[in-house]
Amino acid sequence: MTSTFAQLGLPDPLVRSLAKHEIVVPFPVQEATIPDVLAGRDVCGKAPTGSGKTLAFGLPLLTKVDKATRQRPRALILAPTRELAEQIKQELAPLARAVNRYVVAIYGGVGYGPQKGALRKGVDVLVATPGRLEDLIEQRSVDLGDVDTVVVDEADRMADMGFLPAVRRILDQTSPKRQTLLFSATLDGDVAVLIRDYQQNPARHEAGTIESETIDARHHFWLVQHHDRIQHTADLVDEMGKTIVFTRTRHGADRLARQLDKAGIAAVAMHGGRSQNQRTRALKAFSTGRAQALIATDVAARGIHVDDVESVIHFDPAGDHKDYLHRSGRTARAGASGTVVSLVTGEQRRSVQRMQTDLRLNAPIKEPRMEDLRNAGHRIGEPSSQLETRRSSHKRPATRTRTKARTSNGHSTSGAQSLYVANLPWEATTDELETLFGRYGKVHETTIIAHPRTGRSKGFGFVEMTASDARTAVRELHGSVMGGRDLTVRLARPKGGNT
Ligand code: ADP
Ligand code: MG
Repeated sequence: MTSTFAQLGLPDPLVRSLAKHEIVVPFPVQEATIPDVLAGRDVCGKAPTGSGKTLAFGLPLLTKVDKATRQRPRALILAPTRELAEQIKQELAPLARAVNRYVVAIYGGVGYGPQKGALRKGVDVLVATPGRLEDLIEQRSVDLGDVDTVVVDEADRMADMGFLPAVRRILDQTSPKRQTLLFSATLDGDVAVLIRDYQQNPARHEAGTIESETIDARHHFWLVQHHDRIQHTADLVDEMGKTIVFTRTRHGADRLARQLDKAGIAAVAMHGGRSQNQRTRALKAFSTGRAQALIATDVAARGIHVDDVESVIHFDPAGDHKDYLHRSGRTARAGASGTVVSLVTGEQRRSVQRMQTDLRLNAPIKEPRMEDLRNAGHRIGEPSSQLETRRSSHKRPATRTRTKARTSNGHSTSGAQSLYVANLPWEATTDELETLFGRYGKVHETTIIAHPRTGRSKGFGFVEMTASDARTAVRELHGSVMGGRDLTVRLARPKGGNT
């Protein structure tokens, strides 16, 4: 049985502040982690992108953290990139205010003045990238001697980026009685050594396998000519809406952004070679919808959370299956569905097939067909999928492809709309969903997401109906009660592009 945040032991002000942001049901990683952290244990958590790790460590940390004195923070969260540090701060700051605590993020690429000023006032929870933190320690602007809780977020990426020696030097300066929390997509290799050396008898939590990172994303592999990739990308963004496009190099990212602009797609680039200001502006343009496409390199996009990313394009194929998952995890976050397209040239075919094997992704590499995108596609782990999917009994073609009515300008006027349904009672079945939503029109398909290992429902799922029926269903069913729980119902993937 799942619990509420209050039952997990969090104080009222935090629970109320969460509710204001419509966060009421803990995600599995939060349910697993929060009680252990509150009890003072070291925790190492392996959980996929988008599973809610920030709150998993942030909530218990804010519950326990003491007030800091000048330049001596009490809790430290280490993150590999500036964007990630900033996002953690943004997510925790309103919650911190509710319990009268102060969170500040420090990272490179911006001036020292404001960061030093904040530290002088006293920062209870410091979010930092390792490089800038070491700079500020050296300049005696901060002392870690009172830090008794440390979080190492995205530890595997920290290792990939060569930050582990710095992380060790930093951990060595914190209180020896410290509680250490570590989160990572993988817990092997260098991360395992860090756990061995810096954690004591940690509680290990594994929320979902890495495969489920892209749980409801549909994956496509398009065989293309090298010189056609820009046009394909432009067409895809046009069709799908808000899209993150990955390139291998910084230079490639800049060039593609320019080329897409020329092709009439508002695009911005984000990579490590750009100033902090440029990156912040790019991210903002993309979040607000002013830019339809964000062109990014692997490192730059790590851990970034932007809502409602419709699709991810691998303009250059991912280096390996881990990168593929991290990139693809930018869409289909937190239960939303998304489309992932890899552009593959003839000579890349072999290595992409090898990567597919590592991914357990059984998808053909085939000629581009825009019509396949909306409803067809391959899921990771199929056919031994962790999805319980049931088609309704009325006759439909056996494939997942559905035809859409189209106007002359190519925008869809009807067609299936995916609804995201959350806060389901654990015992809810796809049949019950079908009956419930069937009151508002024909239900094409219902899906309830189950935990891959235990088979237990994760409490959310998807219903597909025509767009207009779906809108009625949202109006009628959002906030209605099923098995004593208030349902969340929203459009999972708006159709017809976006602003
Ligand atoms: P991760 O760090 O694991 O990649 P995040 O912590 O960034 O994931 O969370 C992904 C998104 O899910 C964020 O937008 C966050 O606000 C949202 N989220 C986290 N926990 C919950 C919850 N219990 N209910 C609803 N949304 C949540
Ligand atoms: Mg995170």
